Formats: sequence, C-alpha cells, structure tokens
Amino acid sequence: MTTATTGAPAGSGSAAPIRSDVEELLDALGANRDREALVHGGRRRTAGEVADTVHRIAHTLDDRVRPGTIVALLAGNSPEALMARWAVNLLGAGVTQPHAGLSAAAQARILDDVEADLVLADTPSAVDVLERARPVEARALVSDVLASAAGAPAGPVRGRARAGDVAQIRHTGGTTGHPKGITYTFGHHLRSAEVRRMLSGMASGPARLLVATPIAHAGGGLADRILAGGGTVVLQDRFDAGDFLAAVERERITHAWLLPPLLYRLLDHPDLDRTDLSSLRTVIYGGAPAAPRRIAEAHRRIGPVFTQFYGQTEAGGISVLTPDEHDRPELIGTVGRVVPSTEIAIVGDDGARVGPDERGELWVRTGTEMDGYWKQPELTAGTIVDGWVRTGDVARQDTDGYLHLVDRVKDMVVVVGGHVYTSELEDTLMEHPGVRHAAVFGAPDGDGTEAVHAAVVAADPAPSAADLAGLVADRAGDMYVPREISFVDELPLTGIGKTDKKRLRAELTG
Ligand code: AMP
Repeated sequence: MTTATTGAPAGSGSAAPIRSDVEELLDALGANRDREALVHGGRRRTAGEVADTVHRIAHTLDDRVRPGTIVALLAGNSPEALMARWAVNLLGAGVTQPHAGLSAAAQARILDDVEADLVLADTPSAVDVLERARPVEARALVSDVLASAAGAPAGPVRGRARAGDVAQIRHTGGTTGHPKGITYTFGHHLRSAEVRRMLSGMASGPARLLVATPIAHAGGGLADRILAGGGTVVLQDRFDAGDFLAAVERERITHAWLLPPLLYRLLDHPDLDRTDLSSLRTVIYGGAPAAPRRIAEAHRRIGPVFTQFYGQTEAGGISVLTPDEHDRPELIGTVGRVVPSTEIAIVGDDGARVGPDERGELWVRTGTEMDGYWKQPELTAGTIVDGWVRTGDVARQDTDGYLHLVDRVKDMVVVVGGHVYTSELEDTLMEHPGVRHAAVFGAPDGDGTEAVHAAVVAADPAPSAADLAGLVADRAGDMYVPREISFVDELPLTGIGKTDKKRLRAELTG
C-alpha cells in the first residue's frame, strides 16, 4: 500500500488526526436524526439513517482502508456514492471520483494516474473502466459493501484524517494526455472556514438542494454544505431540463446549482412557464461564461433568485454577483465583486499589474487554493506562485470594482490583426433574440493564425448567418465576424455541463 503525497507542500503535516469536515457533517446529521436528508429516485433517507450507514460502511471498510491511501469511486450521482466517500474520508483516506460521463478510457487513465489502493464501483461502465486500467487488486462493488455494512455496528467510527493527507483528487480534462488531478488535503478545510460560512449563509433556513450535475464536481461540495447546515439534498442521476423542473415543483426545492448552458435549457423548455417554481430561493450559476441577455431573461421569468459565482477548482471562490445586483442590467454581464477573503491582481504580458478597465491574466490569492496537482510538481509550481494562483482567465476590473471575465487564455483565437475573445463574441451573438445558445472557437487557418467559427442554436424564427455577421460587425468590428456560422440543434456539453468546444471543433471542422 502506498502513502499518498501530492508533490505539493503538505497541509499542517501533523500525524495526529484532525477533526475533518466529514465529522462536522456527521455531527450535523446526528443532531436532528429525523429530518429528511437524502432523496434519490423513490427513496428517502433520514439524517439518522444516513449517519448510521456511513459509520457502518466505515466499520466494514476498516481493515481495507488505511489513512493516507487513495480510494477510487466509480459511481454516479447516488446516495451510496456520497456515503461511501464520507466513510472513506472518515477513515482518513482520499477519494477520487472520475465523472461518470467521461469515457471508460479517460476514467481508466485517471485510475492509473492515482494508483488507487482500492476501487469501489457501482456504475455499469465500471467493468469496462477496470478492464482498460492497470490491474488494481483491491476492488469491491458498492452494493456488496452496503450489503455487508447492513450487519455492521452503527456506533461511531472515530475520524482518522490527518491534515497533510489527501482528502480528494478532482480531475479536470482527462480526455487526452496526462489527467490533471487537483488535490485537496484534509487540512484544506481548516483554511476554508470563511468560504464555508459564506456558503452556509446562502442556505440559511431549511434548505432543499437539487443536484443534477455530477457530485464529483461542484454539486458534491455544495451537497455536503447543505447537509452540514441542516438541509436536504435531492439527487438526480443526470441533468434533464424537464425532470429538473418537475423535481423543483414536487420537492419544493429552495436551492440549485447550474452551469449556464443548463440554465438556458430550462429557459427553452416548454414546461418552464407551467411549473411552480415559487419555492426557489437561491439558484447559483457559474462554472462557465453566462450570456447577459439570457441571464436577464432568467431573472425576469424565474424571479430574483440568481447568484452568480465565479470560481475555479484550482483556486477556490473568486467573485459573486448577488441577487440584488441582478436588478441592475449593466451589472449582469459582470462576474460581480471579489469575495472579501480573496485578493486579485490582473497582470499584463510584461508581468506588471494593469490599470482599471485594462485586460490581463487574473491572478488570485484565495487562501483556499488546492494543495497542488497530483504528482505534477512542475505544473503546480507554474500555477501557484507565492500563494497566488494563475487562473488562466483573462479579466478586467472596472472602476466600481466589478470584475469582467473576457475569456480563457487558451480559448482566445489568434487572428490576423489581433485576438478574438470567444466568450465576448458568444455574448454578442446571444444578444440576438433569435439565438438561444452560441459557442465560438478557433480552428487553424493554415498560415499560423486561426479562423473564428461559431455554432449557434437558433430560436424560431431563426436569424440568417448574414444577420448575425451584420450584428457582430456592427458591435465588435469585422475582425470578429466568424468565418463560418453553423446552425445546430443543440451544443454538445461535457459531463459537467460546460460547452464541449473540443468536440464541436472536431465535429464542425474535422
Ligand atoms: P472549474 O475548474 O470546472 O471550476 O472551471 C473553472 C473555470 O470556469 C474558470 O477558470 C473560468 O474560466 C470558468 N468559470 C467559472 N465560473 C465562471 C463564471 N461565473 N463566469 C465565467 N466563467 C466561469
């Protein structure tokens, strides 16, 4: 069995166990055992049942899971997957859960990368993943672990988390090349108390959170916070706009987290106007650029419930646009103000800070950044410099302090005459009432530069390509006019719910 180290400075490094966030969560579940905690399919579990099951799983895994080791969880959005993660963390081991939406080959690469000591599986594709990965001797089905756990004692297992050991590895990308494993130690949560307080503030009162995006991404962390705050989590296997709307009405959902492309799908769904959404109090959106016209539409049609969150798995929380600020149309195109615990610097090509309203790469100091990339110390050193995280996002800050995101550095299209910022151009295309969703990407032009391509999901009546080209030329200039505009029925999304530009590029420019 190996001991997991990230290649990054360890947390507090002490070998004595610390009180981890899983113990806080279990205490909160134990404090009010009869409340409804987890809802999935037709099954409802009370807080007491969930807490007992986590302890029973921990007893069952006790002889197989040692502190400082890594367990891979091949599982979707199930209560069993959440409970297994908490039990493994309680035993002091780290968890990696590749998104179930990734291909078997990509999930296998992640397993190989982390060199898991144990694999717990419950997805049908797990067999395929395990066949492709290097052999892992210790493996079990989550259902078998739960069956054994039914006979195990429910008495509390004392937490064994040590500050410097890995608690979670979250992978980004992974479709090609070496997967980037973003690593958090157990000590990380000691640093993130303020952010957790902020999230708990968003969920005061009896909150009911709907999670339809992978629990291996932001939805999972939010689920933990809502449960620790005394609320209920309703899980759906995957995002489907009709099922999502029906669940909000049926379950009296108060809180939700959505990526903008998923929010657009809700807005474009025929059931939206006949669904009772009056229970909603806070819908947090973020994770990808949001088009101002579509967010204004959401605010108008669904109500003053929207909070925009800008953050990064590597960096943590960066800025927030509050529900009140959504009343001011001029602010909707921004990602809000920087959260109090975060410091920012916008840096030009020469490495010096730029002035107000000038563009540059955004560097942030959040205090809650990752502990490093898994086994990639050079990449970590290039990303976290003196406590500052290079976000890879191009941004500007206006004189009122609002932050505007312009693009990802790597998405910018280098054309003859300058740069085209893809997310700005997407916003411009989506200003047209006949455009529901747009994605812009570059493809090689053969002469060292790139050509701008756009894919558009049109409403009825649809605009023509010439209409859209005219709009872009008018708003942004000829340099921004896409070489090609393709009309598509739907934009492909990644497993998390972001527009999948790699796939679009391959499909449309092959
Ligand atoms: P992830 O690592 O999946 O959390 O993705 C982080 C990246 O998503 C950021 O670096 C941004 O490029 C993008 N992102 C996150 N939140 C927002 C937001 N509110 N608006 C625009 N882009 C965002």
